[in-house]
Amino acid sequence: MLRDGHGRRASDLRVSLTDRCNLRCSYCMPPEGLEWLPKPELLTDDEVVRLVGVGVRDLGITEVRYTGGEPLLRRGLVDIVARTAALDPAPELSLTTNGIGLARLAAPLRAAGLARVNVSLDTLDRDVFRKLAHRDRLTDVLDGLEAAASAGLTPVKVNAVLMRGVNDDEAVPLLRYCLERGYEARFIEQMPLDAQHGWQRATMVTADDVHARLAEAFTLTPLPSADRGSAPAERFAVEGGGLRGGVGIIASVTRPFCGACDRVRLTADGQVRNCLFAREESDLRAALRGGADDAEIAERWAAAVRGKKAGHGIDDPSFLQPDRPMSAIGG
Ligand code: SAM
Ligand code: SF4
Repeated sequence: MLRDGHGRRASDLRVSLTDRCNLRCSYCMPPEGLEWLPKPELLTDDEVVRLVGVGVRDLGITEVRYTGGEPLLRRGLVDIVARTAALDPAPELSLTTNGIGLARLAAPLRAAGLARVNVSLDTLDRDVFRKLAHRDRLTDVLDGLEAAASAGLTPVKVNAVLMRGVNDDEAVPLLRYCLERGYEARFIEQMPLDAQHGWQRATMVTADDVHARLAEAFTLTPLPSADRGSAPAERFAVEGGGLRGGVGIIASVTRPFCGACDRVRLTADGQVRNCLFAREESDLRAALRGGADDAEIAERWAAAVRGKKAGHGIDDPSFLQPDRPMSAIGG
């Protein structure tokens, strides 16, 4: 089991399959992109499957989410999903994606054993999308969402990050779009994880701001916190304009949920991180390539989780942004 010194157990593994991306969302990457990891440093498909296998068999991992960078850019993705779905015990597999390419891949991914997807969508306005993500790909994302729902990758969740003066007027249209199609919208507070270090606490759109915006058009009824578990979203039943459904608001900065965190992360180059904001990593790739057996890898992994800090400390004056940006850590 993966236990830390604060009584938490990690059972939810986030695996980054690449640090590359075909968008440049401004809260994540600079318009010119980043210096990508050299290919030999990336875990191979076999290495990913082996590490997920150790996690599932020896360390109590029950959920695996593939992410990035953009995981749909990873050529071996469908095969990785199929091979990890076949592990015993089988983990629940999900994917966080920007949706570009999902129109083609949703059905094969479902057939390979993927259960669910989260698709990132911050705007429904083509011009705003182009400004925010520096690419003209809104239609691809919307097509991808539709394909995910048709393929049964449900519940389809939509992740949105709102930024002041950019897309903060889109909370209601985004929620309406999701309710009309049976997707669950989740609004995530912007975190200091962009490579450009442009995040500012004073100007971020908070969870309370999102709630206030949504309340202008919908009635929001909090769902009991028991329904929340270790999932970070504060969930609400919503009703308005002839529509009803649910919405999640993720107050990662203003109301951190570190005390209930059950996550551990594996970067595309095989480093274990016990937190998005960790400043240390533990090198499983070196162990793997140095000939370590599964028991040694499991021990190294368990040691990395034991040292997890109690919280991310974004509000501490001494807070330091991690060296790697979100796209390299795996969001
Ligand atoms: N490319 C995929 C995507 O966009 O869904 C997967 C990787 S992305 C890093 C994962 C999630 O992190 C996305 O929902 C994205 O909106 C979110 N994200 C990226 N940078 C963020 C930041 N600075 N604060 C909050 N969320 C962020
Ligand atoms: Fe790419 Fe996802 Fe980062 Fe946007 S948030 S630049 S889609 S990795």
